[in-house]
Amino acid sequence: MSKTVSDEAFKGYVKKILPFSSVDGPGNRSIIFLQGCSFRCGYCHNPETIALGSAVTTGEIRLRTPDDVVQEVLKYKSFISGVTISGGECTLQPEFLLALVKALKKEAFHILIDTNGDFDQAYYERLRPWVDGFMLDVKSIDPEAHKKLAGEDNQKVIENLHRMAGDRTLYEVRTVIVPDWPDNTATVTSVSKVLAEKSPSTRYKLIRFRPHGVVGLYKALPMPKETEMENLKKIASDAGLSQVILV
Ligand code: SF4
Repeated sequence: MSKTVSDEAFKGYVKKILPFSSVDGPGNRSIIFLQGCSFRCGYCHNPETIALGSAVTTGEIRLRTPDDVVQEVLKYKSFISGVTISGGECTLQPEFLLALVKALKKEAFHILIDTNGDFDQAYYERLRPWVDGFMLDVKSIDPEAHKKLAGEDNQKVIENLHRMAGDRTLYEVRTVIVPDWPDNTATVTSVSKVLAEKSPSTRYKLIRFRPHGVVGLYKALPMPKETEMENLKKIASDAGLSQVILV
């Protein structure tokens, strides 16, 4: 028998598979959450699963083959319009993710990658032919502010923003608005400018920080004021974006 993509021996850490979601890309989609993340955001809702391989012993995280994951998602195929692969940060397991998207594409799934953008051009070029688009988080435009927020700088994130916008592979960009964060206006202004120039029909989602469920650094912060959200939305709309969404 000839070797196929799904014969790959390696496994990946999978947090869970949500059969149906209507908020993670177009239409009704299955969401595959891979485990582990390269960032350490103060507002993360699942910091206990950031370290790759953590929580395996509790049964919450499972090591699975690409084929095993695809077989589970195939059960929902007639009810969904596609699959979104999320995290944590799904590109933290690069070879497993590649094998998974190849196996999903073999079954003709529409595939979106939900990412924090922390990967280089070489990996983007390997991943891009197998997926239908990206949903990119841009947390902060200023490298130091990003480091304070997420524990790492944002060089690769910003490179990916330009690259994906230029290639029109961006389905959506998201920024979580932490109340009165000094970089909010600069971030929304810069992201909007890039999208307006290169990919004006891409959705820009401004997400209200919500303290509920946050166990990290920012758990005591309030939600941002509506005036701040509306001001930021106006900046993005005035830049020429047709789809600016507050959530
Ligand atoms: S990028 Fe997402 S999963 Fe990773 S630490 Fe930040 S909020 Fe958590």
